[in-house]
Amino acid sequence: MTSVLHVCSEIYPLLKTGGLADVAGALPPAQIRLGCDARILLPGFPAILAGIAERRLVTQLPARFGAAGISLHAGVLPDSGVPAYVIEAPGLYDRAGNPYADAANQPYPDNYRRFGLLSWMAAQLAQGLDPSWQPDVVHGHDWHAGLAPAYLRAAAAHSGRALAGSVFTVHNLAYQGMFPADTFGGLGLPGAFFDVYGVEFHNQLSFLKAGLFYAGKVTTVSPTYAREIQDPEQGYGLDGLLRSRNEAGDLAGILNGVDPGVWNPATDPAIATPYTSRSVSRKLECKVALQKETGLRVQNDAPLFCVVSRLTDQKGLNLVLAGLPELLRRGGQLVLLGSGDAALEAAFQAAALANPEAVAVQIGYDEEKSHRIIAGGDVVLVPSRFEPCGLTQLYGLRYGTLPLVRRVGGLADTVVDCSLENIGDELATGFVFDAFSEDAFMAALRRAFALYGRKRDWTQVQKRGMKQEFSWDIAAQKYLALYEQVTP
Ligand code: ADP
Repeated sequence: MTSVLHVCSEIYPLLKTGGLADVAGALPPAQIRLGCDARILLPGFPAILAGIAERRLVTQLPARFGAAGISLHAGVLPDSGVPAYVIEAPGLYDRAGNPYADAANQPYPDNYRRFGLLSWMAAQLAQGLDPSWQPDVVHGHDWHAGLAPAYLRAAAAHSGRALAGSVFTVHNLAYQGMFPADTFGGLGLPGAFFDVYGVEFHNQLSFLKAGLFYAGKVTTVSPTYAREIQDPEQGYGLDGLLRSRNEAGDLAGILNGVDPGVWNPATDPAIATPYTSRSVSRKLECKVALQKETGLRVQNDAPLFCVVSRLTDQKGLNLVLAGLPELLRRGGQLVLLGSGDAALEAAFQAAALANPEAVAVQIGYDEEKSHRIIAGGDVVLVPSRFEPCGLTQLYGLRYGTLPLVRRVGGLADTVVDCSLENIGDELATGFVFDAFSEDAFMAALRRAFALYGRKRDWTQVQKRGMKQEFSWDIAAQKYLALYEQVTP
């Protein structure tokens, strides 16, 4: 039985800023169901310490990484019961709000220490820090855990014996954890690692590159994104490294799944009426409830478009703004839940103010409302510029809310366009457009309106989408197969 330590900075339901938390919450339990001994290592942010209230102290360590003292605790995650290690480090993690940035949304300048410690601790656990448990494989997620494979490599070189194997998963290549070169000295890695064949990237320290370079296997969260990041256009200058890892057979795209315990319209406690693919007509009750909740005109036959998203350039929401007048002219409605970029927030709020019966906007983060929106909407809009996997289109599919997406990354891997031939061949599950342009987006929007007018076809596409399998069990199997390849 392989033992794996996931190293991650956020986890549903305790702390979530994006899809990474959903993955961290769902993948380890799926692996445990398959007989894998999976645990997770987390920084002791306030929400995480509060959520893992019953803890045993594993060990205390002297001051390091700018923390006055370091305590490693062990407990279990609420709901899933997955065993978790939590690092308590006064001065480093005990800050309110966003785990990565201050109230002005500026990344904390000592993030290299905060996440350096996370990775360092993973390597300590691989060297027997907890006498009762040791991982065969350390599986790091995103740049926050990028140094873990580097610390493991350094420790293995020092001890002259193979420690744990390592896997590093990129959930989003756009976030790289770049720091000035002079931060490197404080991290305790061998000086030779600050090299183009190492952690150095354009004279800076890149946590992400460390993961990509030192991990035994690199994965990302969809097959298409695994190809795209090998191109200069989406490779952020790391495409050469990714191509070489791919040529060596060390890069894989493994599609994320959906946690049916959290996202299931038949059992979702947050939504107005439960429904299944057989009773999909009851979804209308969720739509009416959402229209009432958001102050929209209650109108059964107004196609209700929805967005649940971080408001960042990545998500392509300027296309939604550009298409909004036409969407409204055709009798559609829009509900948006999200936060982020101030200009996008203001633009959507202005649209809601100008069209109170047809556009509802909530700026902020609201887990339960996100469920009611996905359940009540007819179409979920995900017109991203790039999208490693994307989860909201998968939730849309499960809830009979047709995804309208750009053909990029995981969106391309999970949604089939309602072209006539795809409808004819019983393949269609949503609306897909190619070019990142207003014209292409508008054409997809028009296809959505056209299908909405053909109720039988619409219902069939809904039902087909609801039956798609995006199972964590499949993903968990694939990760386990990789673990076997890297286990020493
Ligand atoms: P990303 O990780 O790039 O943000 P994903 O589609 O992979 O995009 O995952 C986003 C996750 O965050 C989904 O679970 C989505 O429902 C959730 N989410 C995004 N914004 C909000 C919000 N404002 N309120 C509630 N949930 C949100």
